[in-house]
Amino acid sequence: MKRVAPLPPPSYYEASIAPKRPPRARLRGEVEVDVAICGGGISGISTALHLVERGLRVAVLEAGTVGSGASGRSGGQILNGFSASQPALEARYGLYKAQQLYALSLEAVHLVRDRVARHSIACDFMEGAITLALKPRHLTEFRAEAARMAEHYGQSNLEVWGLDQTRAAVHSPLYCGGLYDPTGCHLHPLNYTLGLARAAEAAGAMIYEESRVTAWASGTRPMLATAEGRVHAKEVVFCGNAYLGRLVKDLWPLIMPVASCIIATEPLGDRLETCLSRPLSACDANIVLDYFRPTGDGRLLFGGLANYSGREPRDIIKALRPRLQRAFPQIADAKIEFGWGGLIDITPRREPQMGQLEQGVWFAHGYSGHGLALATLSGALLAEGICDRSDRLALLESLPRPAFPGGRFRTAALVAGMLAMRLKDAL
Ligand SMILES: Cc1cc2nc3c(=O)[nH]c(=O)nc-3n(C[C@H](O)[C@H](O)[C@H](O)COP(=O)(O)OP(=O)(O)OC[C@H]3O[C@@H](n4cnc5c(N)ncnc54)[C@H](O)[C@@H]3O)c2cc1C
Repeated sequence: MKRVAPLPPPSYYEASIAPKRPPRARLRGEVEVDVAICGGGISGISTALHLVERGLRVAVLEAGTVGSGASGRSGGQILNGFSASQPALEARYGLYKAQQLYALSLEAVHLVRDRVARHSIACDFMEGAITLALKPRHLTEFRAEAARMAEHYGQSNLEVWGLDQTRAAVHSPLYCGGLYDPTGCHLHPLNYTLGLARAAEAAGAMIYEESRVTAWASGTRPMLATAEGRVHAKEVVFCGNAYLGRLVKDLWPLIMPVASCIIATEPLGDRLETCLSRPLSACDANIVLDYFRPTGDGRLLFGGLANYSGREPRDIIKALRPRLQRAFPQIADAKIEFGWGGLIDITPRREPQMGQLEQGVWFAHGYSGHGLALATLSGALLAEGICDRSDRLALLESLPRPAFPGGRFRTAALVAGMLAMRLKDAL
C-alpha cells in the first residue's frame, strides 16, 4: 500500500496550542438558554464570558473549532485605535466623538491585558509595537501623528524613531524610521482565544463545536438551529464575522472578507537577534501592509499579501517568502515551517460595527484588521447592552453602517479599490 505523507499542521498557532484543546461536543437536540451565540472566535467567546459572569445561561455554536476563524489565525498584534485613522474619525464625527472612540480602543487593550492576567492565560504575551517608515514621507506623517495624539488624545508616550534608533531595534535595510508605541503588545492569538473559552466554560458557558448555524429565528422565540439541534434563547448574537457568509441577510452587505497570509520561520535561536534586538511587533506604514513579530519559541512570523478578492495564493510560503527575505536578507536561508491564511473583516469605513439588529438579535463584526482587542471589548459591550443599557455600546452603535457599493459586483469594486491603494502606497 502506498504511504501517504501526513498533512502539515495548518498554522503555527494550531501546532503550538497549549494546553491541549478539550474535546467539545457537537450540538444535538434541544437546548434552552438566555443567550445563544453564533461564532466561537474572540467576539463570541468574549460575549459568552461577560454574559455568564453576569449570571446568564449562554450557549455558543461554532461551525469549526474555537478560534478556527480569524481569531486563531491573526498576526497577534494588539494596537490602539481603529483601522480608520483618528483624522478620518475626526473628519466624520468631530473631535469629541473621535476622542471618545479612541478612549474605547485604549480600554480594549487594557481589557486584553486584564483577561490574560485574570485567567492566567499562557499566550506568549510581549510588550511593544512599532509602525515602520518605508520612505521619508512616512516619517513626516509619524511626527504629525505623535504631536496630534499628544495634543488631542493625551497620549504623549508615542516615540518617533529616526533611522539609527530604528535600525538598532529592527535590523532591516527597508525601514528608515518608526513610530514606537509602548502600549502596543502582542500574543499567541489562538492560545488567547482558547484561554478565554476555558474561562467562559469554567463560569458556566456551553460551547459546541462542529455546530454550524444553518437557520435562525427572531421574534417571540429567538432560536439558532444546526443540522442536529436547536438552541432556544431570549436573545441571539451573531459573531460569525467574515466567516458568516449570507446567514444574516442584513449583515452580509456590510463587510467584505479580505484574505491575509502569514508565514512562520523555524525557531531561529540566536539568529532572531540579527533581525530584532527587542521582541517588538511591527507593521509597515503602507495601506496594504506587511507585518511581523517574534514568537514565544523564537520564530519570526511575517504576514501580508492582503487580497481584496478574499482568495489566498495557492502556495502561501512561496508567495510570502520573498517579502520576508527582502525585509530580513540575513535569514534568507531560514526554513519556513508554516504558512496559513485567514479572512479579515473589512467594513467600508474601516470602523467596527456592533449592536442590536432587531429586538432580541445582536451582532459584532468588521474590526477591519484591528479585531484582537476590539473583539474582546465588543463582548463586554454586547453583554452590557443585553443586560441593561450601555452608553459605551451606544457610542459604537451610533456609527453609520454603510453597505459596500457594487452589490453582487462588490468584489470587483473592492479589488479595483485595492489597486488604487497600492498605487498610493507606491508614491
Ligand atoms: C491573517 C490575519 C491577520 C490578522 N492580524 C491581526 C492583528 O495582528 N491584530 C488584530 O487586532 N487583528 C488582526 N486580525 C483581525 C482579527 O483576527 C479579527 O478581527 C478578530 O479575530 C475577529 O474575531 P471574531 O470573533 O469577530 O471573528 P472570527 O475569529 O473570524 O470568528 C468567527 C467564528 O464564527 C464561526 N462561524 C461563522 N459562521 C458560522 C455559523 N453559521 N455557525 C457557527 N459558527 C460560525 C467561524 O467558524 C469563526 O470561528 C487578523 C486577521 C487575519 C485573518
